[in-house]
Amino acid sequence: MFDKKGALHKLNKIKDLMLAEDMPLAPFSNFKVGGPADIYLRPQTEAAFVAAIQLIRQENWMLTVLGRASNVLISDLGIRGIVCQLSPDMAGIHILDNELTASAGAGLSDIAAKGAAAGLAGLAFSSGIPGSVGGAVVMNAGAYTGKMADVVLRSQYLDAGGEVRTLEAAEHNFTYRGSFFNDHKDNFVINTTFKLQPAPAKDIYDEMADIALRRYKSQPLNFPSGGSAFKRPPGHFAGKLISDSGLKGFWHGHAGVSGKHAGFIIQDGKATASEVLEVFRIVQNKVYESFNVMLYPEVKFIGDWQEELPERDSD
Ligand SMILES: Cc1cc2nc3c(=O)[nH]c(=O)nc-3n(C[C@H](O)[C@H](O)[C@H](O)COP(=O)(O)OP(=O)(O)OC[C@H]3O[C@@H](n4cnc5c(N)ncnc54)[C@H](O)[C@@H]3O)c2cc1C
Repeated sequence: MFDKKGALHKLNKIKDLMLAEDMPLAPFSNFKVGGPADIYLRPQTEAAFVAAIQLIRQENWMLTVLGRASNVLISDLGIRGIVCQLSPDMAGIHILDNELTASAGAGLSDIAAKGAAAGLAGLAFSSGIPGSVGGAVVMNAGAYTGKMADVVLRSQYLDAGGEVRTLEAAEHNFTYRGSFFNDHKDNFVINTTFKLQPAPAKDIYDEMADIALRRYKSQPLNFPSGGSAFKRPPGHFAGKLISDSGLKGFWHGHAGVSGKHAGFIIQDGKATASEVLEVFRIVQNKVYESFNVMLYPEVKFIGDWQEELPERDSD
């Protein structure tokens, strides 16, 4: 049995750590659903993050690390143990020559903006992705003109034993929406350095503006979602398969498939996580029945689920 009070007492001794008990997680997730974390903590510095994870490992407490929670669906029952969220509280960004280093909690739009302001190209693709640097490295986030794999030079991370280590570019083992961190789920990104190229700031801002417009025109940004619900199946587009199976604009209670972009599962602000999950299952089954193609979720289902989860691939 997890001793919450005892854990809070020990964690409280770490400097620069925001701590809360039974914290509702919905407001901190892009899907805006999900129950509470037994203990919720937000480190304000990389040192506080490292110290907290080292204590959690030593004590063998259950741990979930989140960035901006823009690629996860949190269960209605919430998450047992400790949830450590890396947020704008731990979001330092530094530039030295052509290298930009950002703490794992830094926002992707913020690193894109900082790079552009410094006349350094390479990160424009990440503007408008609502995730953190840590989550983006884990997922090899990408859009339009690039992906993390193109620009990551190295990351500092915590290994399963709580040691701080460095991962060079090739060691990230980036794949489509995956990386080293998917195979090493007990390892956590602390910060990442990106290798950028000098370019006129105006060109970079133009590229960012073009991407913002394309997102605005094609994505249901006014509804809570987790972005693309499913990974792109080889040889197909998830959105087209969903649309061709007749589910574009389909609603199940307060959750449904966007009528603007069928690749997005959305909710109207009143859904439960369970309703959202059911839409994932309905879409996966319908597309499989219609086209014999299995759509694997890109969104990760985290927390205590009593419902049967949609089929996943190996990640
Ligand atoms: C409207 C919208 C548009 C989107 N557009 C795109 C897009 O164009 N391209 C794209 O690739 N994605 C897109 N996404 C998905 C999502 O924003 C990205 O995958 C993003 O990189 C996830 O970052 P995050 O900080 O939110 O991660 P989270 O959702 O918090 O976490 C994702 C996974 O990473 C793990 N994790 C988080 N931080 C760390 C860390 N520091 N160390 C180790 N593990 C960690 C978590 O445990 C979890 O397993 C979109 C999402 C939305 C809602």
